[in-house]
Amino acid sequence: MDKTSYDVVVAGAGMSGSLAAAMAAKGGAKVLLLDRNEKREVGKKTNWGWVCGDAVASAHLDFINSMTGITFDFPELDHKVDGVVAISPDLKSRFRFDGQGYLLNRPIFEAKLLELAIKNGVDYLQKFEVEAPIIENNFVAGITGKDEKAQHAEIRAKVVIDALGIATTLRRKLPENPYVDRVVDIDDVESTGRFLYEAEMDHEDLNYYDTKNALIHLNQELAPGGYGWVFPKKGRKVNIGLGIQKRSLDIRNEKLGRKDNLHSLMEAYAKMLPVFKSLTPVEEGPNGSKGYWSVAVRHQLESLVFNGYMGAGDSMAMPNPISAGGIGPALVAGILAGRDAAEAVSNGDVSMAGLWKYNLDFNDSYGKKTAGLEVFRIYLQSLNNEVINYGMKNFLSSNEAISISYGNTPELSLAAKFKMVLKGATNIGAFTNLVYAVNEMKKLNSIYDKYPKDPSTFKAWKGLVAEEITEVKERFKPNPI
Ligand SMILES: Cc1cc2nc3c(=O)[nH]c(=O)nc-3n(C[C@H](O)[C@H](O)[C@H](O)COP(=O)(O)OP(=O)(O)OC[C@H]3O[C@@H](n4cnc5c(N)ncnc54)[C@H](O)[C@@H]3O)c2cc1C
Repeated sequence: MDKTSYDVVVAGAGMSGSLAAAMAAKGGAKVLLLDRNEKREVGKKTNWGWVCGDAVASAHLDFINSMTGITFDFPELDHKVDGVVAISPDLKSRFRFDGQGYLLNRPIFEAKLLELAIKNGVDYLQKFEVEAPIIENNFVAGITGKDEKAQHAEIRAKVVIDALGIATTLRRKLPENPYVDRVVDIDDVESTGRFLYEAEMDHEDLNYYDTKNALIHLNQELAPGGYGWVFPKKGRKVNIGLGIQKRSLDIRNEKLGRKDNLHSLMEAYAKMLPVFKSLTPVEEGPNGSKGYWSVAVRHQLESLVFNGYMGAGDSMAMPNPISAGGIGPALVAGILAGRDAAEAVSNGDVSMAGLWKYNLDFNDSYGKKTAGLEVFRIYLQSLNNEVINYGMKNFLSSNEAISISYGNTPELSLAAKFKMVLKGATNIGAFTNLVYAVNEMKKLNSIYDKYPKDPSTFKAWKGLVAEEITEVKERFKPNPI
């Protein structure tokens, strides 16, 4: 094989890409991993840096360890936390999610994933700008782009794995097809900002800063359609961020007569955190201190494969629809995509049917809960602060909320709850809506339990998913204030 033809080309050396390449090479394939970044800046998402909240649950790291043997420690695991705590707008209710986890030093973590790929025999091509897939006979047969001298280049592959993140230039340029969507609805995307600071403390208040927990502030005025976060890092370093839905922000601005944007909301959020005397921007290696980027918070694309093509991570809208946590699914997907790509190459069938196993594997390992979680996100975005305060206090126990965050659907012991709700008559509608949302989650979970075993029944199945999500979106409109 020459340098312009591979079994597997992995485009994008972020969280999902490096692992996909490592696993494909481990499976015996000849693999090229390429990225616009120089090797020393591997995984950098944009010119802003490795923009991320950096939080990941231990369970995901355990999964990588079990599949690759790689172990992690300080410095890539920058700081350990007991979990993620979601706090109501009035600060009176708290739900703890996700179990033990870590705040990563992303630049170091991603360098370690690349090291694993190279150790497994992967070629790494830096400073390569991916522009489009090569399409031949309705198959993806490679990629085109610009090499480090800005010269047009074509690289051929039996399978292309798209790990380019949310702004992928590959998925968007696939041929029109009923399997892999080329466009993601803007209402399903959170615009996010992330600031890294060194904090000087004024006083302790676990509602605003907790070295043992990653805090999430639900507040529709502060972060319309999303949430704010304060994640502790090593020493007094802190990762502060905010995610918003554009539509919710517009509605909130109009109702309040304001002209806020993500940047002004971020600045206001950092200033309102009373526990800090001062916040000084810091850089994490070459990671910039302030940055903005986007996260899709819908169910992952229904099919992750096309002829000669697979996708993993943000390119396939994999982040958790409620928490926007995308590191875990990107790591899981990278591992499964790489392994299944190598298997398809060795079986001599890289058609959509030959690659379909990856759809099933990802659905089993992670994907089948995300459509349900999207329903819950849409429901949450329809609630104002008053209802969120009331609901977190009265509607759900902590265990029920945790169960929902894992994509399960608790029995809500309706009779008992209705008695409670009747005390606050104005919230009966919101509670009825919660019951409806949980039922829709159940319906979607059962649709995903019957994920098509091969492409032949996929279109009808995808129609069922679309029908449910459309119904939920019709019922719940963003209503932040
Ligand atoms: C502000 C913010 C906070 C977040 N917080 C968290 C959190 O706390 N926990 C969590 O789990 N998730 C979080 N996420 C989501 C998480 O960061 C992503 O889900 C994760 O990075 C996805 O990894 P990926 O490999 O799919 O894509 P990416 O990390 O985006 O990697 C894509 C790679 O492709 C390269 N690339 C892109 N386009 C091209 C091109 N045309 N040519 C060549 N190379 C290209 C990029 O340089 C990059 O290396 C957050 C996201 C944001 C924006």
